[in-house]
Amino acid sequence: MHVIIWARVSSREQREGYSIDAQLRANRESAQRNGWTVVREFVVAESAKRGAERTVFNQMFSWVKANAKREKIRAILSHKLDRVCRNMRDAVRLQELEDDCGVRLVFVENQFGPGAAGALSFNVMAAVAQYYSDNLRTEVLKGMDEKVRQGWPTGLAPYGYINTDDREAPVQPHPEKSKTVRRIFDLYSLGNHTFRSLAEKLEREGHVFRTSQTRFGRTALSYILNNRFYIGELRRNGTVFEGRYERLIESATFDACQDILHGRNRRISTPSHPLAGGLLTCAFCGQAITGERIRRKLRGGGVREHLYYRCANNEPSPDHPIVRWKSDDLERAIIDDLHSLRLPNVEMATWFRSTLQTTLGDLLAHHQRHDAALKKRQSEVATMHDRLLNTYLAGTIDEPTFKAKSAELKSESLRIEEALHKAGAGDAERNQRALALFDWSQKAAEVWQGSNNTVRRRILDAVCLNRILSDVTLVTTKRKPFDQLAERLKNDFSRDDRI
Ligand SMILES: [Zn+2]
Repeated sequence: MHVIIWARVSSREQREGYSIDAQLRANRESAQRNGWTVVREFVVAESAKRGAERTVFNQMFSWVKANAKREKIRAILSHKLDRVCRNMRDAVRLQELEDDCGVRLVFVENQFGPGAAGALSFNVMAAVAQYYSDNLRTEVLKGMDEKVRQGWPTGLAPYGYINTDDREAPVQPHPEKSKTVRRIFDLYSLGNHTFRSLAEKLEREGHVFRTSQTRFGRTALSYILNNRFYIGELRRNGTVFEGRYERLIESATFDACQDILHGRNRRISTPSHPLAGGLLTCAFCGQAITGERIRRKLRGGGVREHLYYRCANNEPSPDHPIVRWKSDDLERAIIDDLHSLRLPNVEMATWFRSTLQTTLGDLLAHHQRHDAALKKRQSEVATMHDRLLNTYLAGTIDEPTFKAKSAELKSESLRIEEALHKAGAGDAERNQRALALFDWSQKAAEVWQGSNNTVRRRILDAVCLNRILSDVTLVTTKRKPFDQLAERLKNDFSRDDRI
């Protein structure tokens, strides 16, 4: 097999003694081991000159495109994914090379499986590779940490506060919006509001979320009610720092709202067992999970009720463990499960979204070009067939020649028809739906928390096909595309250091 080598080192790696020679050697050895012939090597050392790298990538891309067939190039051999492309756009162009010229990517490290699954993990890896190659971002994050340690938030202060030039107090309560935040917590802590009724009440009282969108949405309300910033807690990478800004909310009020959010103190009228009735099934016998209410007498004379969920099987086999969950624990497990759809932090989610958008756009353009080429060929074939018929009618060719040639053209026309049908050209609307779905997946857990029981059931149904409860775990089978998102996040983002 004929291959080309693509090698790249960053200036930082060069300083740290990791040379381009070492990388080239690893590539050449890998080629030799596999019995491949290296036709050409493309090397770029990330220099002070910006754009040099881009130029070499483009050179490589056009050279492969022009020479793949003649030189019988079947693969681009590279050390690791983050060597070959620094962003998703490059990844898409390389995918194009594979589609159009049959040139695959092969790595010395990182092997991707064949087929669609391989392509998917390749794209996610490309995404992660760019994230980590973005040194500037990491430096910015380091600077942020220091500011947080001093008790001030980084970047824009949350709703209810303003950023000022005052060096002694760079974050201060906003004159109106701080009142709105207090009102939100006060109203919600009463326990008789849903997000919707709370938003309506706020609107009637003249509270404004922002000029472009005056009414509070459920995402905004959930964000505010869950934000510990208001009780003076600054969080950064899992560590809590004490804020030096003025607090807007008392801890007791915050906790009361948390109880309501987590269903611990629900005064809204609800059916007695919102998660019963076949929503979950037992992992051991397949029966429905049912609710049970246990009353305990308190010493003072009152009665306290506890809500449990258990397997409905009244005659379990001897090896059937006891499947019995406290209501709170089960809710927590569901929220955790929905969280499995979410990227580890906001920076990554924002970046992932914009990359997804670019990629979908690129893929759409690629499909449209491919489609246009097929349609052009289709009309050419039709013209050729017309001409052939005319030639035959004019008596220039005999019947057997006409029939043979005609069959040939018809079969090509059929092949094009099939290819067009199979491609089913992506459309812009589908891209929008994909983005909307991604956005929703990132806040599914919040939406669930802020919803009533009917909506909660609907969300669970929309996200997963099966919900199976054992004595210790809740296992769900997710529907497409949530299954892929959760699976890929588990595999690709579970290591929080480097890839
Ligand atoms: Zn059971």
